[in-house]
Amino acid sequence: MENKTIIFATSNPHKVQELNEIMKDSGLKFILPDKNFNPIEDGKTFLENSFCKARAAASCETRGYDLFLADDSGICVDYLNGEPGIQSARYEKTPELRIQKLLKNLEGITNRKAHFTCALTLCNKNEEIIFQTQGYCHGEIALEKSGTNGFGYDPIFLPEGFGGKSIADLNEDIKNTISHRARALQNLKENFKF
Ligand code: IMP
Repeated sequence: MENKTIIFATSNPHKVQELNEIMKDSGLKFILPDKNFNPIEDGKTFLENSFCKARAAASCETRGYDLFLADDSGICVDYLNGEPGIQSARYEKTPELRIQKLLKNLEGITNRKAHFTCALTLCNKNEEIIFQTQGYCHGEIALEKSGTNGFGYDPIFLPEGFGGKSIADLNEDIKNTISHRARALQNLKENFKF
């Protein structure tokens, strides 16, 4: 069977590669949007922001594709009332500064519960939502960084059930089964008929 092509609303080729890896047994193939893809993320939730991106990809499409998927993700810390949340990518200027800020904000705090969220929106070419879902990965914020794999907040996130290892200590195959993104994509695979 020929793969069905879906536009993945990102300008990051690495994300498309990761998605194709996670979805390799799905019969779906993900590619980048048209060159003039330029989303404005002004939503108040992960779901709203994922819709902003999917809609933007649909609105700039000139090649005739008709399905547009987008994600929006971030880390939410209970003690900080869900922050950094949708501001995860903008919490500080660099990934290292973002980690340091989060550790500083939790200095001396014992409730370190947190979760990653990934929202997905699938739109058609008329910019209408045809499916939405979210996936979560629950765990805690570590006292210090550990590990070299992954990106973003991975070195300070300890997922439940991995004996205190950070996501950055785990290999990519494990991350691709337990991550918020993998779980959201699993929901999509199980509940939407392409
Ligand atoms: P976006 O959905 O790519 O915009 O992700 C927003 C931000 O959330 C990223 O820049 C990271 O800081 C953080 N983030 C999202 N997913 C992950 C992950 O799997 N590991 C670590 N950080 C993540």
